[in-house]
Amino acid sequence: MTTMYREKDGDLADLEGRAVAVIGYGNQGRAHALNLRDSGIDVLIGQRPGGSFDLAVDDGFEPVPVAEAAKRADVLALLLPDETMAEVYEAEIRPGLESGNTLVFAHGFNILYKLIDPPDDVDVVLVSPKGPGRHVRSEFVAGRGLFALVAVHHDASGAAMKTALACAKAIGCLRACAIETTFDQETEADLFGEQAILCGGATALIKAGFDTLVEAGIQPEVAYFEVFHELALIVELLMKGGLTYMRDRVSNTAEYGDLTRGPRVISDAVRAEMKAILGEIRSGRFAAEWIAEHKAGLPRFKALAEADEQHLIEQVGRKIRGMMPPREAE
Ligand code: NDP
Ligand code: MG
Repeated sequence: MTTMYREKDGDLADLEGRAVAVIGYGNQGRAHALNLRDSGIDVLIGQRPGGSFDLAVDDGFEPVPVAEAAKRADVLALLLPDETMAEVYEAEIRPGLESGNTLVFAHGFNILYKLIDPPDDVDVVLVSPKGPGRHVRSEFVAGRGLFALVAVHHDASGAAMKTALACAKAIGCLRACAIETTFDQETEADLFGEQAILCGGATALIKAGFDTLVEAGIQPEVAYFEVFHELALIVELLMKGGLTYMRDRVSNTAEYGDLTRGPRVISDAVRAEMKAILGEIRSGRFAAEWIAEHKAGLPRFKALAEADEQHLIEQVGRKIRGMMPPREAE
């Protein structure tokens, strides 16, 4: 049975008397910190000097070096990039941990792949909002919250889940709901989602469709609208009411094409590739590759990103988006 926690299941009093720190004032860190503060929690920011440090100061915090925050805090939300977290942990966080502290992760990556191995007398929990940091903040400000996953990896105190739920409540997630899961499941599903569907699958699908039309002589601007621009409108309908709801709101011709052609695009070969991608995530092969890429200075990462920046769909897209009324920046 999947346990789903709501507002009544979390108690901010479970954080009382414990010093809370947010380590890393980036996408998630800033949102968590601002929401925690608005929930009445006196939050300390651990952040190295530079852009994010200055942003924290502008937001009214008094950030301190990561090592100092780790030393002073009892509950530490580690909101550093996954690929650098283990280095920072070893050098600056581990030395400041004390028995009874709680480490809060927003993604299980470093625990599942054993890049970080916390001491036995520390609680290790997951509070993973399912969406970008700016939405963690904007939903909170609007009086709502983003749904989250929560998990306990290690319960030294006997109250690890209570701490996780208090943190989830303080950042607004229990206003939506928090689903209890495990570090393994969160990490595997999160990586698979972003690789096969949300980021990788979606961008590759769009580019392949655009290339197909342009190579067949369709004007790039027309192709852009048909395979890219309208996607947001379709996703909006899907989110609002599901597959059938969307299909009831497009033409019968579109619906027939959807039902008969969609499965040909996502063929058995594509499904087999999805299984292979999940296999690389489960075996740790993807994680090892990503950490090695990071250590090598990101040569492949930068080359691939640069190539896509030059893709015709980006050039056409920049032009067309520049002519349209501004959308809410994301
Ligand atoms: P960001 O890259 O946005 O932020 C990273 C922060 O860490 C920045 O403040 C950065 O400071 C600091 N930092 C980076 N490198 C170092 C270093 N070597 N030493 C000290 N500080 C450093 O990270 P995200 O918010 O995207 O991700 C944080 C966590 O949240 C990850 O575990 C991620 O998986 C998870 N998560 C992220 C989501 C998202 O929407 N982005 C969604 C859900 C979970 P500086 O400015 O100085 O570089
Ligand atoms: Mg993610």
